[in-house]
Amino acid sequence: MKIHEYQGKEILRKFNVPVPRGGVVFSGEEAVKIAKEELGGDIWVVKAQIHAGGRGKGGGVKVAKSLHEVWEFASQIIGMNLVTHQTGPEGNVVKRLLIEEGINIDNEFYIGITLDRAQSKNVMMVSTEGGIEIEKVAAETPEKIIKEIIEPELGMQPYQARKLAFVLGFEGDQHKKAVKFLMALYNVYEKTDASLVEINPLVVTKEGDIIALDAKMNFDDNALYRLKDIAEYRDLDEEDALEVEASKYNLNYIKLDGNVGCMVNGAGLAMATMDIIKLAGGEPANFLDVGGGADKDTVANGFKIILSDANVKAILINIFGGIVRCDRVAQGVIDATKWMHVNIPIVVRLEGTNAKEARVLLNESELNFEVASSFKDAAEKVTAVLKN
Ligand code: GDP
Ligand code: MN
Repeated sequence: MKIHEYQGKEILRKFNVPVPRGGVVFSGEEAVKIAKEELGGDIWVVKAQIHAGGRGKGGGVKVAKSLHEVWEFASQIIGMNLVTHQTGPEGNVVKRLLIEEGINIDNEFYIGITLDRAQSKNVMMVSTEGGIEIEKVAAETPEKIIKEIIEPELGMQPYQARKLAFVLGFEGDQHKKAVKFLMALYNVYEKTDASLVEINPLVVTKEGDIIALDAKMNFDDNALYRLKDIAEYRDLDEEDALEVEASKYNLNYIKLDGNVGCMVNGAGLAMATMDIIKLAGGEPANFLDVGGGADKDTVANGFKIILSDANVKAILINIFGGIVRCDRVAQGVIDATKWMHVNIPIVVRLEGTNAKEARVLLNESELNFEVASSFKDAAEKVTAVLKN
């Protein structure tokens, strides 16, 4: 699960990681109110809150030098469709803003913590190249990203934080502050079951303080049951509407850009199905794992989700009957197809227990299924159907 920057900063504050003062607002008027009454000062920053980075470059982060500018920028940014390198060309509509006190930046750094899957350990990454796209730094000057692997049984050790703080060029009092910051940040990552904590930029202010100017946090969905406070930060506006709908039916659905809708039981088989559609020259419209038992209701819910995507021109149903009996799945497919009035071509491949009986059922139904004899045949049939 992803959260907004202002929510990430609320969490950081609780764990004693320094962040600027600020608050979330929904309009230009509220922005002025908070700038004047709660923050004070004479410089403020208006920041679009969307679940994507690169907002600065896209026009979603503005420094305001008067209350009038706070109002102007806030009114401009709220409701705008913000396009950044992370949103893709379609962009995200801005519905919330973070208004913060302006910070006098002396220097910007990058800090990231995530799981290094190759090492099966967490890693803290730092770079002096802060405030710019870290993807670019990684691609062009990877030597400027310094990594420290965290041993799971030990956790982050002070000597590791000291080393990273030296790498970033900190000395004396500031070195101490940086060490404290890095230790506190790792503590947040561990205590909140985060899968990513990224501070880009971490800044040193002209006054010598070290502050997280930006905050990006992602969490392990499987840990949300024990992180009630964090689970409440979920913002469905920022998630794909169909994926949210699918999760209500316990279906694992990821929308893609093709035109072949896929309904499969098991994540591995679903991945393989997408691969084989591509091999046959087609483009999958989605990943959909309907889970172990595929009865009429599951299939009907699957149809509902798949057909909500207007790009879908044909459906491939690929079910392996290991625990479920194929004839029962076939009956479920027949019933759901009638019930949902599905009128685009459906190719069905059922294999496993009672597969023969299932084929007879499908062939004898008055519906127009294409029954495939193998996995490869199914992919070829569904791409052929689309060419007609
Ligand atoms: P991102 O573009 O989505 O990563 O958004 P950031 O929160 O990183 O903001 C982008 C940039 O805006 C930062 O790298 C800073 O250079 C600038 N910025 C953000 N807040 C302040 C501030 O308080 N003062 C100044 N001078 N610049 C700021
Ligand atoms: Mn940033």
